[in-house]
Amino acid sequence: MRALVYHGPGLRSWDDVPNPTIQAPTDAIVKIDTATICGSDLHILKGDVPAVKPGTILGHEAVGTIVETGAAVTKFQIGDHVLVSCITSCGSCRFCKEARYGQCTGGGGWIFGHLINGLQADYARVPFADNSLYKVPSGLTDDQVLFLSDILPTSFEVGVQNGRVRPGDTVAIVGAGPIGLSAVMTAKLYTPARIIVIDLDDGRLAKAKEFGADVTINNGREDAVKRVFELTAGLGADVAVEAVGIPATFELAAELIRAGGTLANVGVHGKPATLHLEKLWIKDVTITTGLVDTRTIPQLLSLIEGGRLDPTVLATHRFSMDSAMEAYDVFSNAAKTHALKVVLTGTPVSGNTKSKVAATASA
Ligand code: NAD
Ligand code: ZN
Repeated sequence: MRALVYHGPGLRSWDDVPNPTIQAPTDAIVKIDTATICGSDLHILKGDVPAVKPGTILGHEAVGTIVETGAAVTKFQIGDHVLVSCITSCGSCRFCKEARYGQCTGGGGWIFGHLINGLQADYARVPFADNSLYKVPSGLTDDQVLFLSDILPTSFEVGVQNGRVRPGDTVAIVGAGPIGLSAVMTAKLYTPARIIVIDLDDGRLAKAKEFGADVTINNGREDAVKRVFELTAGLGADVAVEAVGIPATFELAAELIRAGGTLANVGVHGKPATLHLEKLWIKDVTITTGLVDTRTIPQLLSLIEGGRLDPTVLATHRFSMDSAMEAYDVFSNAAKTHALKVVLTGTPVSGNTKSKVAATASA
């Protein structure tokens, strides 16, 4: 089969690789119908995630069709159309029992395109299939559910829910990338009074308005703290969501919250940020961090089915899977291309691959 393979920092190619095979009875093999690229894939390509070994297939967000199941898979069958969560779950460790699947110590967690081969490929092996796959409700398209693999649950769980957004709140979101924009979309589910989005890129801020932001601030030109305090009668935001991942934006988000407010950090940080306790100690603030668990996938699926949420607006570019190299060029050059999420459509594979997969599995 063909797949997008990481070959070390800065190096990727679209390669011929062996088909995946069942390795544990809880595995399933999925033909990838639709996939997407994530900012984390770009972090990996920069060499920021050394756990990813050269030779690993990238990608952790996809929708596909099951072509083979291990003997212990009971909830899914060949032919089922499924969403693959970016987080797999062993289902039995202490953290999985608490629905903290991201912290799974039983071999799950974020492993696709990280510790095992990922989903930007013709086929992928999904460990713990019963706990890590979700049937796509009939009537929903791949585009409608694809962003539930990672970014929608990330923004909803780690940003909006950790931030405890309530009706009437002022929510300040720092960063208007796919994560910040998904935070706008899912914060609206709680009817905040006002959503303020802060970014340096006017194109992204215009998108934020389209997604439902009430106020946008370009902090390259304007003092965001001053503006947020003016907008909130000198109090500050009830909730600030950090959706960038650099020290400056974490420190900015900490300055934006009111006494008793919450700062929900979503950004992946590579460098230490300063926690200004000399200002915060007196303010009764809550600061949260987290890796997505994807425990809200069923809830978000219901919202999409009910017409209350439409993530398809995040898709700005489309490619066939075998043009994944070009898709990466476009996605990694978002300032110029205005890409938010690029959708990769699976290559129709010639020949009877199902039996080919089965033959290798039993070999
Ligand atoms: P992105 O790079 O597409 O977007 C970041 C945005 O921040 C851009 O629009 C950029 O213009 C803006 N920005 C940069 N510097 C800024 C500054 N000084 N002030 C204001 N805005 C600034 O990233 P994304 O895909 O939206 O992801 C956002 C973060 O979330 C990343 O750090 C990503 O790794 C992280 N993430 C976390 C989890 C998790 O589980 N916690 C999961 C997925 C992604
Ligand atoms: Zn991702």
